Amino acid sequence: MPAPKKPKRLPALSFDHFFTYAELTDFVGKLAKARPDLVTLSSLGDSREGRPIHLLTITDSATGPAEDKPAYLIHGNIHAIELSGTHAALATCRQLCADHPKSDLLKRVAFYVVPRINPDGAEFAVTTSGTIRSRTDRSLREPNTLYQEDVDGNGLILTMRQEHPNGRFVADPKDRRLLIRRTAESKPPFYRTLPEGMIHQWDGTDNIKVEGRNFDWNRNWSYDWQPEPAQHGAGDFPFSEPEMRALAEFVFGRDNIFAVLGYHNGPNAVLRPPSTGADTDLDADDVKVMQDLAEIGAKHTKFPVIPVVKYRRDYQRDINLRGHFHNFGYHHLGLFVFEFELGMLLNSAGMKTKDDIFAVKSHQDYEAQIRRMMKWWDRQKKRAPIFRKWTGFEHPQLGRVEVGGLLKKHLAGPTLGDLRRIAAGTYKFTLAHAGRHPRVVIEAPQAEAVGGDVYRIRARVANRGEFPTHVSKKGRGLRRLKGVRVDFVPAEGVELLSRVGHHSLGHLAGVTDGRQLEWFVSAPGDGRTLCELRVSGGTGGNATARIPRP
Ligand SMILES: [Zn+2]
Repeated sequence: MPAPKKPKRLPALSFDHFFTYAELTDFVGKLAKARPDLVTLSSLGDSREGRPIHLLTITDSATGPAEDKPAYLIHGNIHAIELSGTHAALATCRQLCADHPKSDLLKRVAFYVVPRINPDGAEFAVTTSGTIRSRTDRSLREPNTLYQEDVDGNGLILTMRQEHPNGRFVADPKDRRLLIRRTAESKPPFYRTLPEGMIHQWDGTDNIKVEGRNFDWNRNWSYDWQPEPAQHGAGDFPFSEPEMRALAEFVFGRDNIFAVLGYHNGPNAVLRPPSTGADTDLDADDVKVMQDLAEIGAKHTKFPVIPVVKYRRDYQRDINLRGHFHNFGYHHLGLFVFEFELGMLLNSAGMKTKDDIFAVKSHQDYEAQIRRMMKWWDRQKKRAPIFRKWTGFEHPQLGRVEVGGLLKKHLAGPTLGDLRRIAAGTYKFTLAHAGRHPRVVIEAPQAEAVGGDVYRIRARVANRGEFPTHVSKKGRGLRRLKGVRVDFVPAEGVELLSRVGHHSLGHLAGVTDGRQLEWFVSAPGDGRTLCELRVSGGTGGNATARIPRP
């Protein structure tokens, strides 16, 4: 699709609220319509509830289709309530378009962006503020189990608190909006808390479970996958979740993906592998490159760089996440893979991931941070509605409760104002990471008459990008990352005299690795073309050259 004479204005990306699925669909549709020469909107497949999972393919179509270029994959919002990821991914999509053609990146690289890999979970979170990880299984309703629901009809799923002699919470004397842990000195009333919802086949006892089976799709990737109970949320088998399977099939259906990035919400950080074990389990040179790239991310976002295993509170042991994205991306795709934890409201309120959030030693420390956050929030001019007043309600099963408290969807991320700035930083990281793409080219293709009908054809096939075609050391041995192949396709009536026509070059290192190739042909006719050279394989993109008769 050629560039429109006067490209339409790009749709504005408002950072004033999280998008519903309908709003997301509207935005990506408008972006694709504004720049049909750059953006192709398609679907990875349907979510479990039947929502198409939007995929944006972004590249300058005038310089060839996406599948012929090295490609960078971004996904966001795998966890339902981590809605910031969708906005960050969309900001990258929009900025790539805005920066073209001032930046020539889209002439050489394609971006595959899935802004919301979990549209069902996100819709639940954005419309109700209810909390699930990726998905819960509500088909198997278990007795004495509470399923989240908007019981009082105000459109939101909040927290229910109810006076109870065994209640673990009391109202915070320093901020009556909050609940804090009860201690031996606490004065009544004592509260028990539950998410707003209805209890399936309740036997009237205090033993109430919350939700059924919980799925965490960031434990459903194939590397080192372990079933429950070894890994909570794992699902039944790697890629058992249809949304994740759609993404896996997409990735393994393409040779050209050289980088992957995921967006999450947690205490702000640039996460890099490993998800289990230690750096020494990875190739040492790969760790250096990953750290180096992650520090670029840190520079642009002011986030700390943290290997996934160390993404934990100070007092906790290293976390070993099975079936996790980073280990999958490194060990199964052979790529340098990153996740941005885009932050939480605590970060926006001034608390730092390492010095504050991970440094807590007790419930009291944590409660002090929430209190501090509320004070900060009270001072803000422009405020998201993060708190709902505790309001009495006659629950059909529990009787008198109060419904209210903090809205999880706002706590889970930075303010949207902060997110705009953060997304500008992660975009710069993506440009730096993408700028290192491998790039396989055909140089100096030429033919020379050597007597009679015989011609000598020469060309150099080289990788002029920074990454090798196998990207990481780990990737060198993986069958997924194919070596570079040169197909020699003679024109009609042209006969190859050399013993070898096609060449398998294997992988090419970055920048300086090139092979001089030579063929002899006999071309008795007077056709204008002698042959075509087609270069494919590796992650460095495809190239073709038509060799004319000299
Ligand atoms: Zn997450």
